Amino acid sequence: MVADCNDPLALAADLFCEKEMDLESIESSVREILVGIGENPEREGLLRTPHRVAKSYKELLSGYRMDPKALINNAVFDVVYDQMVIVRDIEFASMCEHHMLPFMGRAHVAYVPSDKVIGLSKIPRIVDLFSKRLQVQERMTTQIAEYIDVVLNPKGVAVVVEGLHMCMMLRGVKKQNARMTTSAMLGQFRDDMSTRMEFLDNISRGAEKLHF
Ligand SMILES: [Zn+2]
Repeated sequence: MVADCNDPLALAADLFCEKEMDLESIESSVREILVGIGENPEREGLLRTPHRVAKSYKELLSGYRMDPKALINNAVFDVVYDQMVIVRDIEFASMCEHHMLPFMGRAHVAYVPSDKVIGLSKIPRIVDLFSKRLQVQERMTTQIAEYIDVVLNPKGVAVVVEGLHMCMMLRGVKKQNARMTTSAMLGQFRDDMSTRMEFLDNISRGAEKLHF
């Protein structure tokens, strides 16, 4: 549970602070789904499925209740450094809110510090904070950028996310290789073309094609 939900970092993270995830209600709902499908939820292979699904949701949707203070954990430092910091190829897995199917891929994050930097390992944690929720990729991308903006107040933040969506690959149009790219550019990345190009050049260099 989040220790202090009124902390500015927690407020900016848009968390569910009121109650814990109700695993029992998820379990009974999954049992209903099995019945709706026409399955027998009492057969051996399915007996513990509602429990397993509830447990996996707890992990896959843990972003709603991550404690941002613990996550940042004193890893913001005052530094005189005003060059671009880039962390690329951050793997993520999220769940599309329209179909509750996974989408996954990689995120690339950059910022230009004004006077603060953050420990590099914390950037993937911020990606987790927003990916481990029911999401649309566009909103997730914006939330990551805006959160870093709140934490570091940098001169600029850029986030590019590439995702493969199970709901597109397995059903409906069945586009196996349709990769969705979204971006959010704030401050210097929005206003200054050369800053933006430096970032985009960097993340395209040696980039492997996204696949499962
Ligand atoms: Zn979907």
